[in-house]
Amino acid sequence: MSEDFYDVLGVSPDASADEIKSAYREKATEYHPDVSDDPDAEEKFKKIQKAKQVLTDEEKREAYDRMGHDRYEQAEKHGYDAGGGAGGMGGDPFGGMGGGMGGGGLGDIFEQVFGGGGGRGRQRPRKGRDLRTELEISLEEAYEGVEKQFSVERPEACDVCDGEGHPPEADARTCPECQGRGQVTQVQQTPLGRVQQTTACPRCEGEGTIYSETCGECRGEGYVRGEATLTVEVPAGIQSGQTLRMEREGSPSPEDGPRGDLLIDVAVAEHDEFEREGDDLRYRLPISFPQATFGDTVQVPTLDGSVEFEVPEGTQSGETFRLQGKGMPRLRGRGQGDLYVKVQVVTPDSLNEEQRDALEAFAEAGGDEIEVNEGFFEKIKRAF
Ligand SMILES: [Zn+2]
Ligand SMILES: [Zn+2]
Repeated sequence: MSEDFYDVLGVSPDASADEIKSAYREKATEYHPDVSDDPDAEEKFKKIQKAKQVLTDEEKREAYDRMGHDRYEQAEKHGYDAGGGAGGMGGDPFGGMGGGMGGGGLGDIFEQVFGGGGGRGRQRPRKGRDLRTELEISLEEAYEGVEKQFSVERPEACDVCDGEGHPPEADARTCPECQGRGQVTQVQQTPLGRVQQTTACPRCEGEGTIYSETCGECRGEGYVRGEATLTVEVPAGIQSGQTLRMEREGSPSPEDGPRGDLLIDVAVAEHDEFEREGDDLRYRLPISFPQATFGDTVQVPTLDGSVEFEVPEGTQSGETFRLQGKGMPRLRGRGQGDLYVKVQVVTPDSLNEEQRDALEAFAEAGGDEIEVNEGFFEKIKRAF
């Protein structure tokens, strides 16, 4: 059972330090084991203290927001310094990144987790559905990390009724079905005896109130299909198939709870020059026969500008060289992969007369007898 620290204190995730402190005082008074008659008071009081301890420490709060509740607790259990940079603790590297990327994502829709409405008392309102979308980025963007703007179709609060589902002037009355409790209890006779079942009231959908009019725009749902433009922080080193999570950017809750999350499946586009294998890159370097023979200094492109590369004397076609640390950054700043340069000796497909003579002389000097077919290249070309 995990409980978000903001929920525990009943504040929104963008609450100020003062708001958090005063919420703490209020809750602590309410659940102090000496005064409260709640059977779980001691347990709750501990949670309240814990939440306050984390959320009033700027560094810890930042880490908490970045990692999300579960990952933060896990990290703390493992003695990980919550103030530090990366939480590279095995498994899915993105599980807890929501807060860090979300930035503006936290906060807006999150006002009413406690006492969220009507006759439901302290029951925690259901979270909205998670949504999923895809995002394509270039290899360069995966190399640098990028702040990417994108749009996503998702339900948005209805403008016309402000998400209420009914016009503001509609008359409200207590639901006659549940007498405003929001819940109905059904008793059934079964062979095993009487079974009592409590469910949300079907008439008012758990609200306890019914209205004389329903909003025509959203047919009482409170939300309509819309499109949101969001910005996600894509970390350097991300790979195709990995998923980012933006907390509370999914569907709105049907009952004043927090939104669901938005899951973003990242695809890194193929690149013209580099082939990626995990954190390593592969590059094919064409060189001439004389360069391969004598060695040369050439420029090799990397994603961070070109670098000088020494082709050693006597390089064979197909030989591969490793440029350490010139590959992709590893996620969360733990070094960099390598760039593998595969040399390809290019055989010329046309020669001028001087080159031809020189090459024939070269062959002769080595003792090779070659029967040179003068018209060879022209013939082949015509054939195609
Ligand atoms: Zn009702
Ligand atoms: Zn509406």
